[in-house]
Amino acid sequence: MRRICVFALLLSMALGLSGCGGGTTVRPVTATDPPKSQSQVAFFFDTVVTMDVYTDDETLLSDVKAECERYEALLSKTVEGSDVWNLNHAKGERIQVSPETREILEKALEYSELSEGAFDVTVAPCVDLWDFSEGSLGLLPDEAALAQAAERVGWEQIDMDEEGVRLPDGVTIDLGAIAKGYITDRIADFMRRRGVESGFLNFGGNVLVIGSKPDGADWNIGIQDPKGAQQQAIIGALPVRDQAVVTSGIYERGFDVDGVRYHHILDTATGWPVQNELAGVSIIASNAFDADTLSTTVFAMGVEKGTAFIEGLEGIEAIFVTREGEVTWTSGLEGRFKQA
Ligand code: ADP
Ligand code: MG
Repeated sequence: MRRICVFALLLSMALGLSGCGGGTTVRPVTATDPPKSQSQVAFFFDTVVTMDVYTDDETLLSDVKAECERYEALLSKTVEGSDVWNLNHAKGERIQVSPETREILEKALEYSELSEGAFDVTVAPCVDLWDFSEGSLGLLPDEAALAQAAERVGWEQIDMDEEGVRLPDGVTIDLGAIAKGYITDRIADFMRRRGVESGFLNFGGNVLVIGSKPDGADWNIGIQDPKGAQQQAIIGALPVRDQAVVTSGIYERGFDVDGVRYHHILDTATGWPVQNELAGVSIIASNAFDADTLSTTVFAMGVEKGTAFIEGLEGIEAIFVTREGEVTWTSGLEGRFKQA
């Protein structure tokens, strides 16, 4: 199972949420009593999902888990009968997809165009030739096979109309860089509709906070040192409310061969991992859908191009950590991001 540790972890979560629910003192419930703290750790979407919410709704978290199962059945590449599985096995036929899948594909296409193909969900044939899972043997793919797979990559080939989606035979998709962000937002909406005003979600590095902490203070998000992922060293902290902080990097899923780091963000032109100065990038946005898509996109762009790109987008910020350990951030975080 994938390690729970992700770049972005909540510094103050334990402080804010522990100690609730275990008390022995009985006292009358008053109208001013804050909702109870409820937590859940689960494994979905090939990653660890943690949720900490303030609510008195006893069935909320089990209903959320059912929602996660529904999304998994819809969007997983490996679950037979999912939209993605159906598309990848359609052999050139146009097929109907759910509104959720359509929404994700529309966002994917938008960012493919913006990034000139650095972000591209049709990178799937290349992704399939790598194994970055926990138990990976760390083997490099066959060079010719990877080159052939890279030739099939190209977002312009996704043909979407009212009737459905058509991929040419041999073209497949992988929503690993975007679906978790979409799902995180949808789950947060689900919680809000059920009355949650304060909560913290971490879907495998997609952190989203609902509102502020129950005492009205900002949530304090620790940005993890990508190199110290196992030690959970922090490179800095960022106060947020009603925002998403999503991180992509090279140390969570990857391996070293002869001093080279091979990791799961691929150069869509070659199918080989992106080799630039970056170890990790965190995107701060109002929603996890954009932030997830951007974390992968901006990682592939590198520091210089990625910084300029984010500076051009309103309401979105980024924190970059290079392999050398240099930390930089976009102008909107001046005075807000506190480097450790
Ligand atoms: P994580 O899945 O750890 O949150 P990312 O959001 O950066 O990390 O997504 C990485 C995943 O996206 C890869 O595992 C792969 O499935 C897919 N992917 C890899 N390279 C690209 C790319 N250039 N464009 C779109 N998707 C990609
Ligand atoms: Mg991403």
